[in-house]
Amino acid sequence: MTQKNHWLNFINGQWLDSPQSIEVDDPATGQVFATIACADAEAVDQAVKAARACVDSGVLSDCRPVERAALLQGIAQEIRNLTDEAAPLLMQENGKSLADAKEEFVMAAKYFEYYAGMADKIEGKSIPLGKDYVDFTVYEPVGISAQIVPWNFPVDICARSLAPALAAGNAVVVKSPEISPLAMTWLVTACQRAGLPEGAFNLLCGYGHEAGAALVAHDDIDQIVFTGSVPTGKAILHSAAERAIPSVMELGGKSAAVVFPDADMDQLLSSVKWGIFFNAGQVCSAMSRLLVHRDIYAEVVERVTELAKSQQLGAAVEGADLTPVASGKQQQQVLAMCDQAVAEGARLLTGGQAPERDGYFVEATVFADVMPEMSIFRDEVFGPVIAITPFDTEEEAWALANGTDFGLVAGVFTHDLTRTMRATRALKAGQVFVNEWYAGGIETPFGGIKLSGFGREKGQEALYSYVNTKNIAIRVSK
Ligand code: NAD
Repeated sequence: MTQKNHWLNFINGQWLDSPQSIEVDDPATGQVFATIACADAEAVDQAVKAARACVDSGVLSDCRPVERAALLQGIAQEIRNLTDEAAPLLMQENGKSLADAKEEFVMAAKYFEYYAGMADKIEGKSIPLGKDYVDFTVYEPVGISAQIVPWNFPVDICARSLAPALAAGNAVVVKSPEISPLAMTWLVTACQRAGLPEGAFNLLCGYGHEAGAALVAHDDIDQIVFTGSVPTGKAILHSAAERAIPSVMELGGKSAAVVFPDADMDQLLSSVKWGIFFNAGQVCSAMSRLLVHRDIYAEVVERVTELAKSQQLGAAVEGADLTPVASGKQQQQVLAMCDQAVAEGARLLTGGQAPERDGYFVEATVFADVMPEMSIFRDEVFGPVIAITPFDTEEEAWALANGTDFGLVAGVFTHDLTRTMRATRALKAGQVFVNEWYAGGIETPFGGIKLSGFGREKGQEALYSYVNTKNIAIRVSK
């Protein structure tokens, strides 16, 4: 919702302004083009109260689940209807291409379609306890789901948690990111057009340390779903611990692809392009490390460097391969990590710089001969930067792949079936890709272990993060 390019928060079915606002710039030019109302702790409290009133009314939890399913299908259709109108805004505020911005809205619609299909199938169990009892379980909505969204895929990630939460009959308060908060407001529009009741979805933008902290510390929320960085996740977990409320944590990654000599080179290179240069590398599950068997190390290093050099930088509308990162702060952080890698002795083959042009661009960057003690091996960059390391034995490869504090995803490129199976057991991560990075989709559970977090989003499994199990045991004999 806009008034002269000033965007508002959505609380209890109303678009509301705030005295303060946050500026939104275009990463392709660095120019501010819009503002959004900046929510404070009072606005957060209003949103939680609206969500509580919605929960207490039973409007979503007490209806027949098949009606909730129809509502979610309606939201999906409305998202599809508004995609062409909404996607240019996501492109402008986030720096992604128009095609990728449209795809994000399509993904958002798919989450609603997928969880619409599950909304009326959240069935309990009957548990045999002998002739004296009848026992069964039911799944009840948790109540108010407080959700914090990052800026790299704001529309997709918002829908990823919102759709299963609504499917299970909850009310939701979402805190959007300070960078790239505008396009998410179109999800509100889709929900309104589909007839979602007031208070079921409240969306507010504000600073993390103010609105975000106020939301996760609010006494009346029933769960926290957080997607973002490890330090913020840890801070939020302290708030959750204060009231012992459940949380889903989708944090960062430093994921490795392990490449054996029998890998198909075309398959590998298209996965590298997609895995580290898509969305300018700002993907939590990016292929930020490549572990390559020494027999093909020189060839892979050369081919990946050629690939990186061929990536055309450009603003979305120019149809480029490599779009800008989302903010000046992110650009500076990526460049500083590249400088640090050089200082620690990693071999820079291409990139590592910002080109001479406006906007927050970073060149496609390849480091080779990266050793496990280097920061570029261990720390998440969140930019178009790949670190390549050689290995000699399978055991060494698994140890290198598992040798960081993260465990989000991992990959293996080989056509040896038994080695593939060993890889799927040896790699410590929430998801293992074989011969294609980012294989899977909305149907497959996603999430990490170790510092990458816990809980799962996507797939059937995610829905069960949004319900509580209740067991009912009835003595039937006299
Ligand atoms: P961030 O942690 O800085 O911010 C994420 C969100 O948390 C923002 O909305 C921010 O306002 C909010 N926030 C900040 N401080 C807060 C506080 N004290 N209390 C409550 N909320 C607070 O992360 P970012 O820079 O926006 O995103 C990048 C990170 O997110 C990367 O580490 C990336 O790997 C991770 N990420 C993970 C996934 C996943 O699914 N695992 C997906 C996308 C991004």
